[in-house]
Amino acid sequence: MKFLAFFLILIWSLQVRANVSAQDLAFMAQAKAFAQNAHIPSGRNPFRVGAVMVTTDGKVFKGANVKLACGLTQCAERVALYKALTQKSGGGKKSVSLRAIYVENTAGHESAPCGVCLQAMSDFATDETLVFFRDAEGNVVVKKYSDMISHPFRNPH
Ligand SMILES: [Zn+2]
Repeated sequence: MKFLAFFLILIWSLQVRANVSAQDLAFMAQAKAFAQNAHIPSGRNPFRVGAVMVTTDGKVFKGANVKLACGLTQCAERVALYKALTQKSGGGKKSVSLRAIYVENTAGHESAPCGVCLQAMSDFATDETLVFFRDAEGNVVVKKYSDMISHPFRNPH
C-alpha cells in the first residue's frame, strides 16, 4: 500500500513538472527578479514577492508587493493585474484576458496567490488560466485558476 502511494505521488509529481515548460520557468525567473522591486519600508517584514501576468494576446505585466509605512499593503499579483488593466488600451473589464500568472518570492517560501488576489482576477480569468507558484518544497506548481478558487463571487450586473 505504501509503495502504491509512493508510486502515485511520483507519477503526480512528474506530471506536474511535465506541465511546466522552459518558457514557464523563464517567467518564474522574471517574477523572482521583479520581486526585488518590492516597496518595503525599513523595519517592516522584508518579504519580497514578484508576479508576472501574461494575457491571452501575449502581453506581459509585472508587479511586486507594496507595503506602506501607514500599514497599507498590496500584493504583487494585484499590482500586476492593475497594471494590465490600466496600461492596456481599450478599457472595460473584458479588455484583459489572463493566460497565466507566475508568482515568486526571494525568500524561497511557498508563494500561492492569496484569496483576495484570486478574487480580483475573477473578471479576467477563464477555466484555462494557469497559476504558477512554488510549493513548500520549492517545486514549481501549476494549477488551473478554477482549481485555486472554484466559485469566485461574480457580480450579476
Ligand atoms: Zn494577494
